[in-house]
Amino acid sequence: MRKLFIAGNWKMNKNAKEAVSLAGSLKNRLKNVKDKDILICPAFTFLCCVHKEIKNSNIKLGAQDMHYEDKGAYTGEISPLMLKDFCEYVILGHSERRQFFNETDDIVNKKIKKALEHGLKPILCIGETSEQREKNKTLSVIKTQLKNSLKSIGKNDIKKMIIAYEPIWAISGGDPNHKAATADDAQEMHAFVRKVLADTYSEKIANEMRIIYGGSMKPENVKELMAQPDIDGGLLGGASLEAESFSDIVNY
Ligand code: PEP
Repeated sequence: MRKLFIAGNWKMNKNAKEAVSLAGSLKNRLKNVKDKDILICPAFTFLCCVHKEIKNSNIKLGAQDMHYEDKGAYTGEISPLMLKDFCEYVILGHSERRQFFNETDDIVNKKIKKALEHGLKPILCIGETSEQREKNKTLSVIKTQLKNSLKSIGKNDIKKMIIAYEPIWAISGGDPNHKAATADDAQEMHAFVRKVLADTYSEKIANEMRIIYGGSMKPENVKELMAQPDIDGGLLGGASLEAESFSDIVNY
């Protein structure tokens, strides 16, 4: 039985006071949740204060990205060594990193290896554009992203990871009315991702791994999405920025 995993990616939002206040509010609202893993991923500058705020709670902390080197002349970058005191997880390969910062599968693969080396659990994001979907290229795009991003990641390491299927066309970009994937479309892709994992690793590993959905998940559609057999949780952008909507999704 896979434990559900609900993660909030706060992206480039909030100031320190707002970040601590949101974390505190979630800590109170979600304190009795035991059947799901809950993760929040604030901006780098708030990791320290949010870490303090959620200490001894059931909320885990993650970063939104990291560099693939331990240290050095990489102005503006954050290393896994800087994250590991605070974070258990790190989001890697988010479509916004790929789209706006030219991240390739190759870079994502380097980051995954480095995160694992330092005991951080990677959440690997994959997803197709609307153009790729229209041209019937979805399956090959997803398979290629998985194969290339997971190159040389062994059986012991893959088990520590979470895969987030996030169709780019469903990501809200902050628009609360943006359309999510249908539950059927999402399920079909999650089953496909699990099959690729089974073919690459083993049926057992694929069945144990959590594959979460991202793209306009909200209180109104969470039930239907979570009812699908291969959807093991959600990665939320917009809906993670308010305590009420995030808690409603966790407690759906
Ligand atoms: C995301 O960017 O990972 C995401 C899922 O965003 P949203 O929930 O706002 O669509």
